[in-house]
Amino acid sequence: MRKTNYHMHTKRCMHASGSDEDYVLAAIEGGYEEIGFSDHSPWQYKSDYVAHMRMRASQFDDYYNSIKKLQVKYKNQIAIRIGLECEYFPEYMGWLKTLLVNYDMDYIIFGNHYYKTDEKRIYFGTACEDDTYLKLYVDEAIAGMKTGLYAYLAHPDLFMRGKRVFDHKAVEESYRLCIAAKELGIPLEYNLAGAEYNAIMKTEQYPHKDFWRIAAEIGNTAIIGVDAHEPSALKTDTYRVEGIKRLRDLGLNITDTIEFGKFKG
Ligand SMILES: [Zn+2]
Ligand SMILES: [Zn+2]
Repeated sequence: MRKTNYHMHTKRCMHASGSDEDYVLAAIEGGYEEIGFSDHSPWQYKSDYVAHMRMRASQFDDYYNSIKKLQVKYKNQIAIRIGLECEYFPEYMGWLKTLLVNYDMDYIIFGNHYYKTDEKRIYFGTACEDDTYLKLYVDEAIAGMKTGLYAYLAHPDLFMRGKRVFDHKAVEESYRLCIAAKELGIPLEYNLAGAEYNAIMKTEQYPHKDFWRIAAEIGNTAIIGVDAHEPSALKTDTYRVEGIKRLRDLGLNITDTIEFGKFKG
């Protein structure tokens, strides 16, 4: 399996550190063959809302130009792709699609963080404590996957951050999510930032073993995502090695690649 990673952020999202070049240098040192930047997508809101966990739309050019430069500078050492981690905000998808086509972006991954728009501030991670939101989390995940825009679903088990106990409802909704992803041919991400959080906090939020058991039963394809918010995450292999072993022990197929170039105009 090639060593690749398509989930990493930049300091523009205000909760990551290091320069763009530091991520590239760390990935080269970590032995990656191909990486992709997928910083939290900006959105063009209809309100004057300012999000505090993503770049502003006005910063997108800087993001794009910086990564394009690094692509050229390091072309003999590592392949660099340019993407975004985007939610599914139905009302704003037209704006997003135009951006993706205009810049001929390589890919986007699906981070189903907020319900409808973050202007409403309903973060699925915590809201899924309530089963009503767990169902909506899966409804929105399926609706988003059906758009065909996303290369894969990031941290599909994000709902366990709020849910905490993998009860019958979590089982039922996980089946619904995994079956839809399987039918649509969309890989599910085993998220290494979550694995690190679980280990440090001595908890089990995401990735959650019961979710991945269901994914194995359904026959989903998994992909490892570092979800790097600091360059050093690309230099350590502890969670990657452990994750690959867990997934293989469960019998999951792991892919090292995603589909690029969906946004040709
Ligand atoms: Zn982030
Ligand atoms: Zn995310």
